[in-house]
Order: sequence, then structure tokens, then C-alpha cells
Amino acid sequence: MIASVQDTEHTPMLTPSEVLEHIYCPRFTWYMNVQHIPQHEDTRFKVLKGREVHRRRATENRDYLRKRIGAVKREIEVYLASPTLRLRGIVDEVLWLKDGTMAPLDYKYTEPREQVFKTHETQILIYAMLIEAIYQTPVRKGYLAYVRTGQHLQEVEVTESAKATVVAVVDQIFAILDTGKLPSRARSARRCEDCCYKNICV
Ligand code: SF4
Repeated sequence: MIASVQDTEHTPMLTPSEVLEHIYCPRFTWYMNVQHIPQHEDTRFKVLKGREVHRRRATENRDYLRKRIGAVKREIEVYLASPTLRLRGIVDEVLWLKDGTMAPLDYKYTEPREQVFKTHETQILIYAMLIEAIYQTPVRKGYLAYVRTGQHLQEVEVTESAKATVVAVVDQIFAILDTGKLPSRARSARRCEDCCYKNICV
């Protein structure tokens, strides 16, 4: 287990799920963490996430993937936490690459579809930022391995602008937690159709 020395159970840090829920609809943050109204399990976002629940523990014998990536060393199921970034999470693999950089690798058991990929991309960016902060080593790429129907490997560019976007979302979330102010609605009204908060959301 790797974590910053300042990491305590009282340090406010967000998980990738909390960031993704906020991106799906900023009001999720408000209902869950300001109003303390938990979600039902049957929201559309939960359905998307639910497909990920069974994904772990099938990461053995994936050496061909690591070879393709150019990894020379790995750690599996690594807990990463940074009070500075205010983020924490468990990544399937932390990789050391031949070129001296590092990279996160996460296994997915869904189809690599565009809509789902956007959430996976954000998740891998969070892991990349955490690895860079904790290991003090550059991370230029992250990897998503879609292993349900084969061995599709998707590369995610870890750019300064992508990282800045994640930082901005984290800032937005903490601003809601600090002020208690009701945020704007989901960008698409379609997201409200299956939402567990739709009857109370004004
Ligand atoms: S009803 Fe729509 S705006 Fe309200 S929390 Fe749900 S998704 Fe967001």
C-alpha cells in the first residue's frame, strides 16, 4: 500500500467514482454529500458502474499486454492517495516503462464504447495524476485493457490540459461541499429520466 504520509482518514479526498458521478450530474455531489441522501442502486450511472463490479481479479497472465506497453516492472492493486490533489483510489496496476516514465493500467470488462470510454478516460487520468504525485515520476500515458471479448488496449494521453480539467472538477466538487450551494442540473435532460433524485430535484 502506498499513500502520502499526510494521508489520514480525516483528510478529504475524492474517489474516481465521486468525480465521475459529479461529471454525470453536479447535483449528485450536492444530494449525496450536502443533503446526505444516498442514491438508489438503479440509476443509469450506477448501471454503467455496475458493469465494472465484476472486473477485478482476472488480471493474471496478462504479460502480453504489459509487453505491448513496454513495462519493465509492475505493482498490482495499488492504493494511491494524495491530500494535495485531494484524490485517492485503487488502480489495477502501476507500471514502470522502459523510457523511465510510469503508467496506470486498468482492466475493463465492458465493451470499449465511446460513451463509457469517456468515464474510463477520466478515471485513468486520476490514477495517472496520483502516480505522478506519489512516485515523483512523469506519467505521459495511461492504459485501459478491455479484456471481455479479447485484448483491446486503449491508450490515454495524459496531457497538461486533461489534468487541468480533472483539477477543475475537483475544485468544483469541493466548492459545493464548502458552500453547500445547489449546483446546476445535468447537461442533458435525458440523464434525469432514470435518476433516483428526479422526484425531489427542482
Ligand atoms: S434529476 Fe437530473 S438534474 Fe436532478 S440530480 Fe438527477 S440527473 Fe441531476
